[in-house]
Amino acid sequence: MPVGLVILGATGSVGTQTFDVARQLGVPVLAIAARSGSDELHALASRWPDARIAVATPTGDERIRFEESFGNRAMFGPAAVLDVATTSGATVMNGIVGSVGLAASVAALDAGNRLGLANKESLVAGGPVVLAAQKRTGAEIIPVDSEHSAIFQCLKGERPDDVARIVLTASGGPFLGRTRSELEDVTPAEALAHPTWDMGRRISIDSATLVNKGLEVIEAHFLFGMPFDRIDVVVHPQSIVHSLVEFVDGSSKAHVGTPDMRVPIQYAVTYPERAVGLLPPFSLAGKNLAFLEPDRATFPALDLAYHVGALGGSAPAVFNAADEVAVEAFLQGRLSFLGIVDLIERTLSKVAQVELSTVEDVLAVDAEARLVATQLLSGAC
Ligand code: MG
Repeated sequence: MPVGLVILGATGSVGTQTFDVARQLGVPVLAIAARSGSDELHALASRWPDARIAVATPTGDERIRFEESFGNRAMFGPAAVLDVATTSGATVMNGIVGSVGLAASVAALDAGNRLGLANKESLVAGGPVVLAAQKRTGAEIIPVDSEHSAIFQCLKGERPDDVARIVLTASGGPFLGRTRSELEDVTPAEALAHPTWDMGRRISIDSATLVNKGLEVIEAHFLFGMPFDRIDVVVHPQSIVHSLVEFVDGSSKAHVGTPDMRVPIQYAVTYPERAVGLLPPFSLAGKNLAFLEPDRATFPALDLAYHVGALGGSAPAVFNAADEVAVEAFLQGRLSFLGIVDLIERTLSKVAQVELSTVEDVLAVDAEARLVATQLLSGAC
């Protein structure tokens, strides 16, 4: 067990579930971080009196309130988030949503801390930068995304040369089985209604477009050093099989269980050991499991992600940034559902491809892609 946890993105979906795991394991929470000084963060800070608190972008009022309530425990600004990520000996759970999570991932790895990685943008946008940081200190990255945790667990004890391919499962999202014309008028509320996983807003929309699965393919490429032609996707609406690894002898190992993020979160904390978890016993009896090919024509985001991944360099960062802008616009009713992938493609065609070696390189590409996507949205270019 680690000396304690640092929970980044503490008020988000992964963050709040990490507190459940900390309580279950009896692991201290050393620090928590969130974007704003919300009531939720204030409540968490009160409940965990030993934790330092980092608020990335507080309003003036929030800052005063946190200073009055918590004194020196509270720190402010993006640098405070990086500071808590370097807490000595901690396991850092990075549940920050979006590309702002990258710098925290790199800071944790540079401090030699184990990184529980739920922020997929770290590897998608900044894969080469994150892997270089890991190499510098030899710190561990333990994936928390359910699919990657599944693959990580299936690969344990296996030789890399024995792996034929990895297969990510995709729920298919709320629009599985629909045609393109049936997707023209879907609303944010319909797209947010994910059938099997309880998740944040962006990732729910990304699941509906299959952008999320595309991001996960790219993430798997970096995490497991797997070429794209050996990463496959199969749709599995029940989300019971969390992913598979196929070996050269024709055997496959699958990771199976109730879809609940507290399982991969806990594994990232206890690895390489296991501990009694929060879920009731699991049974396959009575479960009907289906598997089907993804509909790549209706959901073109998946093939686009493979294309972008193969391009490498800054292309995945542009893909990710344009998607963040597009999802926000869709949620605000300024862009249609089918317009999301369209905006990503148009942004990709307008942002020049560069190599990435520092966090600043990634953030510069991210900012440029956001600007271009925003301009395209408003019809300015
Ligand atoms: Mg996932």
